[in-house]
Amino acid sequence: MDVSLRDVLACVDAPTEEASLLRHLFGFLDGRPVGLGTVSVRDQIEALRGDHLHLDIILVVRDDFAANDLQDLAFGIQGARDILGQVGIGIGRVRYHEITREQADGAEVITSKREAKRLTRRFRGSSDDAMDVFMVPQYNVTSGGENKAGICAVPTCFKNHYVFNGCVIGFRHNGGPITGPQMPRLLAHELGHGLGRIHRNISGNLMESGGSGTSLTVSQGRGMRRDCFIQDGCSF
Ligand SMILES: [Zn+2]
Repeated sequence: MDVSLRDVLACVDAPTEEASLLRHLFGFLDGRPVGLGTVSVRDQIEALRGDHLHLDIILVVRDDFAANDLQDLAFGIQGARDILGQVGIGIGRVRYHEITREQADGAEVITSKREAKRLTRRFRGSSDDAMDVFMVPQYNVTSGGENKAGICAVPTCFKNHYVFNGCVIGFRHNGGPITGPQMPRLLAHELGHGLGRIHRNISGNLMESGGSGTSLTVSQGRGMRRDCFIQDGCSF
């Protein structure tokens, strides 16, 4: 493959000085997650050549994160990449932001949908072309007898104008921690909502509520790729 790494890193707006492949090409804040195995630069280059999604990940009160939360998140990003890759959607640039305890004003523990929505109204990531994903230490919302672990709705790509505009995902919920292996499905499911997909009662499907499947139909994939957040492939 005759590709300049400089061009590839430009596609994800990596800094020209001291760019790190794990941090800027793959979006891992804390190195390669334990248990992930190798990651393929070649696969990520292919993904960036096709439709892809940028993320602004907003860490809500990082002081309250458990030691392995950022590793689990990286595991989730790479797993979500595999899941969305089934329908030709890559995960491109991943930027990180932090909200301090003072700024969060209690939002580090989300106890209702209403609080989650409020969080997405109060803050937003730095890039209008990226989907906001708020990671909170604790998401204690129960609905219909089920412990929920996240919520997401992104009605338009104009971050400023709507009341609920992003995903909120917990590292822990009422039922305990979301473990590394659960994070890919959780993240991909919420991003699926962000890309306009509603729940589907199809066994094994990513958008099945409360399920564990990760498959997607052709029409779900087509719908997601048409979403306004999807970036056209970079040419290199
Ligand atoms: Zn859902």
